Amino acid sequence: MANKKYDFLVVGSGIVGLAHAYEAKKRGLSVAIVEQNTRCTGASIRNFGFITVSGQGARDTWRRAVYSAQVWKELAALAEIKIVHQGTWILCERPEAVEVAKAFLQTPMGASCEYYPQTSYSKLESLGFKNTANLNLKNSLGLLYSPHEFRVESKKAIPQLANYLQNVIGVDFYWETEVLSIQGSSVHTSDQQFDAQRIVLCPGAELTGIAKPYIEKHDLKLCTLQMLRIKVQDGFILPGSVMTDNSLARYLGWSELPEAKALKERIAIEMPEYVENGIHLIVVQSADGSLVVGDSHHYGSSENVFASEKIEQLIIQLLYRVLSISEHRVVERWIGVYPSSNTCDALIQKVSPEMRVAIVSSGTGASTAFGLAKDNFDEWLR
Ligand SMILES: Cc1cc2nc3c(=O)[nH]c(=O)nc-3n(C[C@H](O)[C@H](O)[C@H](O)COP(=O)(O)OP(=O)(O)OC[C@H]3O[C@@H](n4cnc5c(N)ncnc54)[C@H](O)[C@@H]3O)c2cc1C
Repeated sequence: MANKKYDFLVVGSGIVGLAHAYEAKKRGLSVAIVEQNTRCTGASIRNFGFITVSGQGARDTWRRAVYSAQVWKELAALAEIKIVHQGTWILCERPEAVEVAKAFLQTPMGASCEYYPQTSYSKLESLGFKNTANLNLKNSLGLLYSPHEFRVESKKAIPQLANYLQNVIGVDFYWETEVLSIQGSSVHTSDQQFDAQRIVLCPGAELTGIAKPYIEKHDLKLCTLQMLRIKVQDGFILPGSVMTDNSLARYLGWSELPEAKALKERIAIEMPEYVENGIHLIVVQSADGSLVVGDSHHYGSSENVFASEKIEQLIIQLLYRVLSISEHRVVERWIGVYPSSNTCDALIQKVSPEMRVAIVSSGTGASTAFGLAKDNFDEWLR
């Protein structure tokens, strides 16, 4: 059988692979994606679908997030992907968190964001914010609001994006086809052979497969996260995505600010179990009203297979501190895994003139993949 020929071949159908395929198509290339599973089952469908800008690390990650948010919106319209809600509320419980929020507003990344102190809580609805009464504000000193974020339901949005790439803009997909080796511009799979002028490997958390020899020097670990979907009382609507103080101490766009030092120290003393398990709260809502809630972070050389009830309880305790919910029932539990590096949020490894590896080595790929792919092409196809 003759080898199939493409300008550009992508290995992996997660968001990093899809973003590369989309950026390649925009540049007029013929493109194929080869995926070992029958569909994407990795981090890209297990995440919150929380497309974030605020809180992303200053410089490259933030810049890629700004670009990616714009592309997500374009594609959401084209591929009929529903944007479930917009904006993020961060409840600042400690004075140290208020200092971080205020310092963030002074940076270029804080443009368009607002800080609302306790005294303005009663005015939020009149300022046009809906459903803020569903936040439990009695423990907070103030609210940091970011308008940039939005949410997609990843388990639907990723297949919708793949369908759009395949049926509307002509990307060829080869499902259930594992790439076993790459030699020069030839790609060998379980049952076929491809020739491509350029190849990008987007293996996600599969660090020990064909990507292994190319990424060894990056010392990547795996980060395992515990996630929940819950039902709460009927009619409950989130005003947007919700986070807490812990997020200000964790996400680099905030935690790298000098003002965050005092917050991190206080959280370490007051919430040791949360720090030990890397727990910080993100809550988003789905179209059916259910809430997706997480998460925890455990780092190691392999995935943490077993979900812990204790971690679930800690996450739920935090949830009741920030939302006015009267009851909850867990309807789904899952774990997700992503590659993690101590030194970078994402990496592009140049293997040869025709081959590269692209990995998001932090929990930011849904928010930054399009920017990463654009950066990769801007430099590669120059
Ligand atoms: C629980 C969780 C919550 C998260 N929340 C957020 C969030 O809210 N916002 C955000 O921005 N980011 C979030 N992230 C991070 C984000 O989901 C990831 O950074 C992103 O999905 C990584 O995409 P990827 O394409 O690299 O990996 P994946 O989605 O894992 O895709 C990699 C694909 O490559 C395929 N593959 C690997 N090897 C081969 C081979 N040899 N042949 C063929 N196919 C192969 C795999 O089968 C897989 O489908 C979260 C991650 C997790 C786990």
